[in-house]
Amino acid sequence: MSGDPRRLLAVFAHPDDEGLVSGAFAHYRQQGARVALICATRGEVGEIAPGVNATKETLGAVRTQELHNAMSHIGVGEIYFLDYRDSGMMGTPENEDPVNLHNAPLDEVTGKVVKIVRAVKPQVMLTFDPQGGYGHPDHLKVHAAAMAAFAKAGDPTCYPEQLTNGVAAYAPQKIYWPGFSPEFFEAVARYLKEAGVDLSQFGPFNPERRAVGRPPVTTRLDVAPYLEAKARAWQSHASQQNPNGLFSKIPPELVQKFRQQESFTLAESRVPLIQRGGGIGPVKPRQRVRYIERCAKSDRQPHRLGDDTIVNSPRRRVFALWRL
Ligand SMILES: [Zn+2]
Repeated sequence: MSGDPRRLLAVFAHPDDEGLVSGAFAHYRQQGARVALICATRGEVGEIAPGVNATKETLGAVRTQELHNAMSHIGVGEIYFLDYRDSGMMGTPENEDPVNLHNAPLDEVTGKVVKIVRAVKPQVMLTFDPQGGYGHPDHLKVHAAAMAAFAKAGDPTCYPEQLTNGVAAYAPQKIYWPGFSPEFFEAVARYLKEAGVDLSQFGPFNPERRAVGRPPVTTRLDVAPYLEAKARAWQSHASQQNPNGLFSKIPPELVQKFRQQESFTLAESRVPLIQRGGGIGPVKPRQRVRYIERCAKSDRQPHRLGDDTIVNSPRRRVFALWRL
């Protein structure tokens, strides 16, 4: 045991979603923090990359193993599956499957997340933003369930049947929404347009569309030391490497440049935030972080108001997820 009291719990939908934060995982694991991952489905209805030994029937098992392999490169062994069925991309027939995550009652999914929150007792949670990254129905459901679990896990009147055998209500302190930075999508869109690529072919992954309407980034984490582990983890998801996907059309240097940093939006905090650099002011406990929206409107740099204070470069302020 490291004695590090910090605990991080990420709530995602499919094996490979955690690639968004694998650098943060590696960083906090290396420091000795406990890192746990909830994966609500096994990604059974994802596409299968050419040359991968998987069928529609075996894909869930293949992707489960891929996730374990990926996390072995990052040092995360604590993975909880909720065992809902993958709901498929928006507008596909799999959306209608009654046993999928999309059709599961929100209360039920929330209860499963609450149970794990009460067992792991994370100070910090991570989940999708309200757009689910690019709108996948499972991402949206996971967002709703994780946000509800953040609100309810500390309330003993919620899911009281769980409070036996020493299990107590427990309220995590912060929840963040990780996501690719808008600058990344802008750079990708610019590059592809200059190369004459028609962006509409990427549908929901169109980088131009994804650059707008994102929640503002409040927190950036420098994960350059973990680039290799991050890459190995990503390659472990072999069944999901689309040879014609967006990433195949971008120069590796560009991807590499943006992979060095992971971006987060602090969505809610129960701890007062430290005012830095002349901001709007500390956020009251349990108050949704409205300052983020005000920053966006007033053109201020939201991260100047951040609560987190690790600065490792005079020009580029990099904040850590933790600072309770
Ligand atoms: Zn996903």
